[in-house]
Amino acid sequence: MSATAQRQPLKPLDEALAELLGHAAPLGKTEIVSTFDADGRVLAGDVVAALDVPAHDNSAMDGYAVRSTDWTDAATVLQVNQRIAAGSSGIVLGAMSAARIFTGAPIPAGADAVVRQENCSTPEPGSVSIADQPKAGQWIRRCGEDVTAGRTVLSKGDLLAPESIGLAASIGFEKLLVATPVRVALFSTGDELVMPGDVLPADMKPGAIYNSNRFFLRALLQRLGCKVTDMGIVPDKLDATKAALASASASHDLVLTSGGVSVGEEDHIKPAVQALGQLNLWQIAIKPGKPFAYGKINGAHFIGLPGNPVSSFVTFLLLVRPFIRSLQGATKTAPDSIAACAHFNWPKADKRREFLRVKRNLAGGLDLFDNQSSGVLTSAVWADGLVDNPAGNTITHGDVVQFIPFSSLMS
Ligand code: AMP
Ligand code: MG
Repeated sequence: MSATAQRQPLKPLDEALAELLGHAAPLGKTEIVSTFDADGRVLAGDVVAALDVPAHDNSAMDGYAVRSTDWTDAATVLQVNQRIAAGSSGIVLGAMSAARIFTGAPIPAGADAVVRQENCSTPEPGSVSIADQPKAGQWIRRCGEDVTAGRTVLSKGDLLAPESIGLAASIGFEKLLVATPVRVALFSTGDELVMPGDVLPADMKPGAIYNSNRFFLRALLQRLGCKVTDMGIVPDKLDATKAALASASASHDLVLTSGGVSVGEEDHIKPAVQALGQLNLWQIAIKPGKPFAYGKINGAHFIGLPGNPVSSFVTFLLLVRPFIRSLQGATKTAPDSIAACAHFNWPKADKRREFLRVKRNLAGGLDLFDNQSSGVLTSAVWADGLVDNPAGNTITHGDVVQFIPFSSLMS
């Protein structure tokens, strides 16, 4: 590493993230998709209800719709004068009568309660008796108790989930306006990298390693709904790096690379991006992670991740994910951080903020993976989240720590 790199002060994560998000103005391109296909997309317009849900008072049970005041005692006999199934409607319910009714069927005018069939008996065909006094309103699902007409049920910037597309469908939305997928070009740098399948493990030359980053970065981008162009491996040569960056930037919103982002002789990302556009190279005060680059080439965003697999993985989760969500116009870009109990000791404080690979245990606490090295990808596979440990902090078994589940870092 050159003297310049060593002198560069470490940048706090929050500062780096704020600066990064400052560059991530929503792309603003939208498209209409079938509600069926909208899971995982970011909504580009409010979804406003044009009707009440339910649209009518309806029965929550199979049983009888009655007028509660008709009941005097368990010997009261009501005449069953209509049958209302879900999808049909009844007629006005007169005094001393009952409607046979089924779950979801509209309550007939005049009725004010439903009695479950389990609480009824049939003294003779066409009549019904009820064991207990019906309470007005019982077993009735009220008109509009889910959604009232005019209400915004989903908002521009919401990330759509299976339950949200169900809700959109419940108010009649067949199609939804969503953000167009972010176009991302991805490539790895490193002459040591070999693709699985190209060389058998037994034939790997000394110093060669399989390209793992390419696999998880592509998968992470796809989970975020990006349209990924995988440009493979680019050799550690300035010209090749420049050529790859130039062609990628012409037709993508974001160019994402891994490796080569330090300032060693074999690290060509910095000079290549500087030759084509602008670059900010940061040493972020996190562990794992440190080197991280943001820049612009021909109007496209550029992000350079470190090569060490866990550093690459964690910096993607902490910085690239919110960046992409912001380009999509998502309202919420920050992951959920939850208070949890450490079931481990972390006696050695680090001057950088650490993101420890941990897993929830059945006792409601967090266990720590025993090797936290930035090259150990098994730590990330074993873990189900990260502990966000402030700089200079030690952890003692029983301490409350901040836990960020992977589920909230990958969606
Ligand atoms: P670099 O950031 O290029 O200096 O790489 C740092 C470390 O990460 C080196 O040990 C590289 O061999 C390793 N590395 C870089 N890129 C990848 C990759 N795509 N997959 C696995 N390891 C990588
Ligand atoms: Mg390298």
